[in-house]
Amino acid sequence: MNLEINGKTKLCGVMGDPVEHSVSPAMHNAGFRSLGLDYAYVPFHVRKGDLPAALQGVRALNIRGLNVTIPHKVAILPLLDEIDPLAKQIGAVNVLVNNSGRLSGYNTDAEGFLHVLSEQGIEPQKKNVVILGAGGAAMAICFALASRGESLTLLNRTHITASKCAADISSSTGRPAKALELTRANLASVLEGAGMLINATSVGMLPAADATPVDRDLLGPHLTVIDIVYNPHKSRLLEEAEQAGARTINGLEMLIWQGALAFEKWTGIQPPLNVMRKAATAALRRYEK
Ligand code: NAP
Repeated sequence: MNLEINGKTKLCGVMGDPVEHSVSPAMHNAGFRSLGLDYAYVPFHVRKGDLPAALQGVRALNIRGLNVTIPHKVAILPLLDEIDPLAKQIGAVNVLVNNSGRLSGYNTDAEGFLHVLSEQGIEPQKKNVVILGAGGAAMAICFALASRGESLTLLNRTHITASKCAADISSSTGRPAKALELTRANLASVLEGAGMLINATSVGMLPAADATPVDRDLLGPHLTVIDIVYNPHKSRLLEEAEQAGARTINGLEMLIWQGALAFEKWTGIQPPLNVMRKAATAALRRYEK
């Protein structure tokens, strides 16, 4: 269905730096069009220091809602009128909803990740789950996993950040969470007894697609490996995990689910998941060329 922008069109978008390679505009606009919704979605390039002014703009221009991405996911918290309890616990907001000038923040990364696990039939692990990273995405994933009763080990380049995250997770969920520095020796010792490995760092993302956070010889068929990096479609980590006989899942499904949950918050309508999946996949292929 072809829709024209008119005087009643509701505007949504993604706000971040950089945003020029985001697949979200293609994904959401395809979703709006397929349901005949009078909405449009655009990327907004907002630099770090411009966040407060951008939020005034959201109110003044009556923008319906935004996805929030790097570097604003944490900085936006004190600037909002209300924050969903899960987003507050995670300490990061990736979706903003504007109700007549009142701005509410949510985190759909955590729920999106849980949808991926259930879609793939991944049951709660009997063994430890290893998470690489301690940024906003890692925190959302850790809270999602802790809510399923998993035991977690976080490894991060900056050890102190991992320690803080692990302490936050343990104290608010009661689940065990251990923190280590991201080194080969630590990886070797924790991966042997683990059932699942999740890369929630940006290592391996385009344009540095030849990088990987884990050496190939540490991977094996006992692992399910999830890389939340979705550009490239198959990261070096996933390529090598596949060669080592591991089950692999890439970050595109999580991206689609977190987007679909945002779509529902802005429109109140069930998202057309397959349409959004097709559009996001096609957009990603265009950017990879
Ligand atoms: P973030 O808050 O900036 O955190 C980045 C994380 O990556 C930190 O733990 C950082 O470690 C680590 N890191 C960065 N460069 C590194 C390097 N060279 N070596 C080792 N560790 C490194 O970012 P985020 O929002 O959590 O996002 C992380 C990644 O997930 C990005 O690639 C993003 O595109 C992706 N993501 C995907 C989805 C999805 O739906 N599939 C959703 C959200 C995010 P330090 O603490 O040491 O700096």
